[in-house]
Amino acid sequence: MNKINYSKELEKRIEEFREKKEVPKLLLHVCCAPCSSHCLEYLREFFDVTVFFYNPNITESAEYDYRLKEEKRLIEEYNRQVEESDFEGMNSDERARKIDIIDATYDVSEYYEAVKGYEQCKEGGDRCRKCFELRLSETARVAAKEGFKYFTTTLTISPLKNVDVLNEVGEAAARSVNESKIYDGEVFFLPSDFKKKNGYKRSIELSQKFGLYRQDFCGCGFSKAQREKEKAQKC
Ligand code: SF4
Repeated sequence: MNKINYSKELEKRIEEFREKKEVPKLLLHVCCAPCSSHCLEYLREFFDVTVFFYNPNITESAEYDYRLKEEKRLIEEYNRQVEESDFEGMNSDERARKIDIIDATYDVSEYYEAVKGYEQCKEGGDRCRKCFELRLSETARVAAKEGFKYFTTTLTISPLKNVDVLNEVGEAAARSVNESKIYDGEVFFLPSDFKKKNGYKRSIELSQKFGLYRQDFCGCGFSKAQREKEKAQKC
């Protein structure tokens, strides 16, 4: 079976929007500032982007607050660039837009409930699928409720996350909220593979440029314990 190139799929959609001179409203699920740095730099040229920071998987509130604070600092920086027209590598006929943010409530019990029975799965396995389902189904719901036509996630920038699973989960989340008919209008999941075309490399450059906090574990207590074990084994 041929593998889907989700990066090309996104490019095709963007080309269609550009031909129609459409700038769709996009709700972007963001896991952290470093991962969002490249995604926002890229997407803000083609979409009216609002960030949705919904990450109940993050194990401690201090860690959650710090990641959210860094995300807000990055958005302020990008919005300052728009105000001052201070862009890197952008043609004069391209125009970046200001970025908005919706904070979600933080309740780690939502995560533990979602991964019940999957706690012992290895990172990258079924526990992560459950975690993606939780975060993307809420993103789809909020997108529908708030009148966004499109949503997607920064999670596909990570080389450690299964891009096929993420795109399947995103599509299923859109289908589920549309079939529920709770909200007016349809929402669509935008396919992506943000690490492609040097996206991951660019996220590292931008994180360095803005001095962003780069955590060394994914987010949940299980991933933190795993990272600590690996570090101890290296000593
Ligand atoms: S390792 Fe990351 S994606 Fe997997 S369950 Fe933990 S926080 Fe979620």
